[in-house]
Amino acid sequence: MSDLNLQQNMATVQRRIARACQKVGRQPSDIQLIAVTKTVDCSVIEQSFHYGVTDIGENKPQEIARKYDLIERPVNWHMIGHLQSNKVKLIVDKVKLIHSVDRQSVVDEIEKRAVAKGIVCDILIQVNIGAESQKSGIATADVKVLLEYVERCQHIRVLGLMCIAPYFADAERVRPYFRKMKAIFDELRTIPLQKSEIKILSMGMTHDFEVAIEEGATMIRVGTGLYGTRNY
Ligand SMILES: *Cc1c(COP(=O)(O)O)cnc(C)c1O
Repeated sequence: MSDLNLQQNMATVQRRIARACQKVGRQPSDIQLIAVTKTVDCSVIEQSFHYGVTDIGENKPQEIARKYDLIERPVNWHMIGHLQSNKVKLIVDKVKLIHSVDRQSVVDEIEKRAVAKGIVCDILIQVNIGAESQKSGIATADVKVLLEYVERCQHIRVLGLMCIAPYFADAERVRPYFRKMKAIFDELRTIPLQKSEIKILSMGMTHDFEVAIEEGATMIRVGTGLYGTRNY
């Protein structure tokens, strides 16, 4: 993979998306690509807009706050990393979607800040699908309770689910986890909801997004596949 050739990297990602879709009879237009820009310079992020990037994801609220002021062209921001309550205020009125909501205390803080700003905040519930102790996300058994909790908040809507699946060198081995996410997603879709609408399934990263698409992802989050290896 070329680190610097954004055009070629984007073409490769698009080709991989198309091939995965073709395999299972889905349309590439049904897959929203989130370009993950953590550690990527603003000048490079802006270059990538020329190749069709419309939505970018960052995992640190401070980075969203910093880059938000530096990037002038309109772009949709996604908060994809672990979110502490005391950082919600940095991003609540800047992002299109928060992917990483996994507990009531963060919901309470988002509601409070959204009320103060007079906005409605769209979120995904992050699920710890591999039950990995080092990963964020709510346990699968508790997803429905959190969804019902958010339904009682006036200024937040749940639009779906997100996961960071366990890592396997052989991406095929992650398939059961993505399949389980899709099953939870489909189950939630049967619950009657007032404001929330379960329609986004955010799963799949550079090395496993084909499997995620085959299993029903509607949003994939791709960093190294577009911008090359990260330099921390
Ligand atoms: C970094 C990151 C990604 C992208 O990972 P790549 O392997 O570089 O595609 C996706 N999702 C989250 C939450 C991340 O932190």
